[in-house]
Amino acid sequence: MNNGIHFRPTRADISMAALQHNAAIARRHANNCKLLGVIKADAYGHGAIEVARAIQGSVDAFAVAFIDEALTLRQAGFTQPIVLLEGCFSEAELPVCAHYNLQPVVHHQQQLDAILQARLVKPVAVWLKADTGMHRLGFPPTQVAKAKQQLDACKQVASVTLMTHYANADKAHHQLNELQQQRFTEACAETSPTAALSSANTAALLSSAIDLGTEHNQWCRTGILLYGVNPTEQAETETLQAAMRLTAPVMAIRDIETGASVGYGSRWQAQRPSRIATLAIGYADGYPRHAPDGTPVWIQGQKAPLVGLVSMDMITVDVTDCERIEIGMEAELWGPNLPVSEVAKAVGTISYELLSRVSPRVPRHYK
Ligand SMILES: *Cc1c(COP(=O)(O)O)cnc(C)c1O
Repeated sequence: MNNGIHFRPTRADISMAALQHNAAIARRHANNCKLLGVIKADAYGHGAIEVARAIQGSVDAFAVAFIDEALTLRQAGFTQPIVLLEGCFSEAELPVCAHYNLQPVVHHQQQLDAILQARLVKPVAVWLKADTGMHRLGFPPTQVAKAKQQLDACKQVASVTLMTHYANADKAHHQLNELQQQRFTEACAETSPTAALSSANTAALLSSAIDLGTEHNQWCRTGILLYGVNPTEQAETETLQAAMRLTAPVMAIRDIETGASVGYGSRWQAQRPSRIATLAIGYADGYPRHAPDGTPVWIQGQKAPLVGLVSMDMITVDVTDCERIEIGMEAELWGPNLPVSEVAKAVGTISYELLSRVSPRVPRHYK
């Protein structure tokens, strides 16, 4: 777009150093386990190719949601194994997986049958998923041993890694954590020969309540941690760094009287003479439209509250208590000064959604 020239000052700065710092922390947490760097959804909005470049020294393989995301990485020249977390949607994808060393998750019978019936020039490595309680994807634990046996016996299959996914790894004391671990352990124990195992996401990696396993044939899958967010309630001993800094300039300032309202629907009404700054970012950029009055914005070294409904291209902020606000000043919507998790909490969502929804019209700048 525009030959890469951007005049618009609204932007997302992505710190390669922060990504590397966080990846090194993930590496340390994973002990002897291998690490799968999860870079689906354009690396949670950070840019898959650039993130892959930044973290490739710290991870053993990449994971994306589906095959198109993996092919983008192959076309950019990355040669690491890439896991397809949703697996294949049609058998036409299987020869492509074989050719490009993409490793599909197999989570239901049709996917399993497609592999057993395929004729591939090269075998594929697959990840067999057990549903231990999330009830979204995966075979019932009782069917895992048979599926594994069939895959092991299949010439088209190079290797099988057993995996499952936790529903509540972010809550240290949730009863389902132990139950899911137990079901996974039991399902895996029924299989032979033994396989590599993978259960931990970021929350499990950071949580003391979940056993990662310590052997090198265990895989931890980490996404959100790479981008600098701790999704658990447990404090992190090492400080993560925000990889994204989303900023927008002040594009207008006005003083309004007590009782005057701001924005569509006049949702917010001034309780005192107020100074309103309009910022050049809106829901078309991925700033959440449902952000309530009071959602924090970082401006001039302090937090100021969003007031009035978010527009497509603009938001309005009460800067009455800020000093010297001028047109052109930069405000941070989230980043090193204002954790995305704090904004997510104010908005009633999670950091994952805010980060991954920053839209393509916001230019990413890498440094
Ligand atoms: C997205 C995803 C992950 C990564 O989760 P984080 O919480 O970002 O670490 C891990 N496993 C699966 C199956 C996923 O879909």
